[in-house]
Amino acid sequence: MQNSFIDKHKVFVQKNVLNESNFNIETNILRLDTINNVVSGNKFFKLLHPVAAAINEGKMTIATFGGAYSNHIVATACYCKEFGINSVGIIRGEEALHLSDTMNDAASFGMKLHYVSRESFKEKEQLKLQYGNETFYWVNEGGYSRLGAEGAKDIFDWIDETYTDIVCAVGTGTMMAGLIAAALPHQKITGICVLKGYEEQINDVKKLLTNTEQLKSYTILHDYHFGGYAKHPLPLLEWMNECYSKYEIPTDLIYTSKLCFGVQDLIKKGYFPEGSKIMVIHSGGLQGNSSLIKKFELLY
Ligand SMILES: *Cc1c(COP(=O)(O)O)cnc(C)c1O
Repeated sequence: MQNSFIDKHKVFVQKNVLNESNFNIETNILRLDTINNVVSGNKFFKLLHPVAAAINEGKMTIATFGGAYSNHIVATACYCKEFGINSVGIIRGEEALHLSDTMNDAASFGMKLHYVSRESFKEKEQLKLQYGNETFYWVNEGGYSRLGAEGAKDIFDWIDETYTDIVCAVGTGTMMAGLIAAALPHQKITGICVLKGYEEQINDVKKLLTNTEQLKSYTILHDYHFGGYAKHPLPLLEWMNECYSKYEIPTDLIYTSKLCFGVQDLIKKGYFPEGSKIMVIHSGGLQGNSSLIKKFELLY
């Protein structure tokens, strides 16, 4: 499915970033954040196949789940509007009744939003019965699925065989699974977990992989969550400005700031061998900053 509102030509590889060591390591960043303001970064890739499948099955409504600041929710709303199909979002937490910028945007793209309590949000099958019907195509929370991962394989269109390492942020693990599936045998995928203490995350990734893909080279690191999902202590915010001043890389506070900070720190600590060539995946998400950062002045 091609459409001009997504401009893949805007994607670019920004060279020689984030390496503040004396190690001989080339670090580049794949700027997927430039694809589209709302359907930015990996969300475009993750939505490609599920939406195509829905249309194929004659289902005219995409319905999915997410939190009040979810990039996945607003991206789904925008993507569906563009392709002329309906969208429904089941949103965790009644406090979200006080609309975030993200929810306002989703609503402005025509998404029908249902706010449910944290308790009922856990009962996905019940919610599907309550809010859906047979014309709905359901997408998992955060887009977690093999179909989503299939789309993320396309990210390798910008990564050639000279790269030894690919590093990405990990939420549901869908993008990481796609990257693992597409990687060559000598390429290692390192994921930076943005959730606190979620050691089981690697199993979520594995569940999306075939047996052969599971044997490839990959790992998830748990040292860069900065206190947990969407937590953004002042040092992180200050680092985001520094990263922008030094490298002209705008990052979001949930995923890519923690990713880029992690890469810089890992290089310093000698995690990557001399001679490594690293591609960092800028998976987008910048739209969330305006909802979440109120009292701090970002430079971008
Ligand atoms: C959704 C998102 C991720 C996480 O992707 P998963 O496939 O859920 O792991 C990473 N970065 C950004 C900017 C995102 O919006």
